[in-house]
Amino acid sequence: MDFTLRKYLSIVDAALDSGYTVGSVSDLFAGSLEDQYVVLRHDVDRRPSNALAMATAEARKGVRASYYFRSVPESFVPEVILQIADLGHEIGYHYEDWHLARYDKHRAKALFEEHLSTIRALAPVSTICMHGSPLSKENNMTIWKHWSFEDYGLKDCILSHDYTGHAFFTDSGRTFGVSGANLRDEIANADVFPLVRSTNDLCEFVRLKSSTKIMVSCHPERWTDNATNWLSQFAKDQLANTAKHGIRYIRKLSDKA
Ligand SMILES: [Zn+2]
Repeated sequence: MDFTLRKYLSIVDAALDSGYTVGSVSDLFAGSLEDQYVVLRHDVDRRPSNALAMATAEARKGVRASYYFRSVPESFVPEVILQIADLGHEIGYHYEDWHLARYDKHRAKALFEEHLSTIRALAPVSTICMHGSPLSKENNMTIWKHWSFEDYGLKDCILSHDYTGHAFFTDSGRTFGVSGANLRDEIANADVFPLVRSTNDLCEFVRLKSSTKIMVSCHPERWTDNATNWLSQFAKDQLANTAKHGIRYIRKLSDKA
């Protein structure tokens, strides 16, 4: 069965067995990964307890990943963040302040600073990554048209690196393939591999060493061995995919208008 924690760990095993260095986004930016690497990125949109289970399992395998937490209560649980940091993982800020501030640049800056200092009180934060906010009409990275994340000693997961020659996979839309439901989880310049859709496909891709530079983005809320939790996420993903297709359709219509 796909989207269980056990299944997720098969990606980590495939990477380790095939000789990849596995690391976090900050490891990538620091240049501390070897020539052949898999970067593990986790956007904790909700269900932080799933993130803690994933982080614990990764730590048992001796790998370090990045966990990006939102400022909202369904993601931001200090005890979980502290425990994940203690396991040796990178903690980052999953920002959505442009949306929360309703596109007011001064309000967005104030919110960003407040949320960044709250998370930095728990763990060092050197990288950030935007939350997709699918219902927002503007991309959360728009804040950086007005302000600079470098002023806060930060690098942005998407904006601070040239991903040319990288393979990027995200589970958004409950598939690693290119999905119409994947509205904003994209990395510019990264290579696209449309035949990789399931976790088994991705493991095969890794084992064949089809790319030497890989980033995998998995949302922990989606990966669980708990049957009730799995079923509720499955239903939620189906609904979200339908809604996102609708949003795409409406945006296309308004672009034509
Ligand atoms: Zn997100």
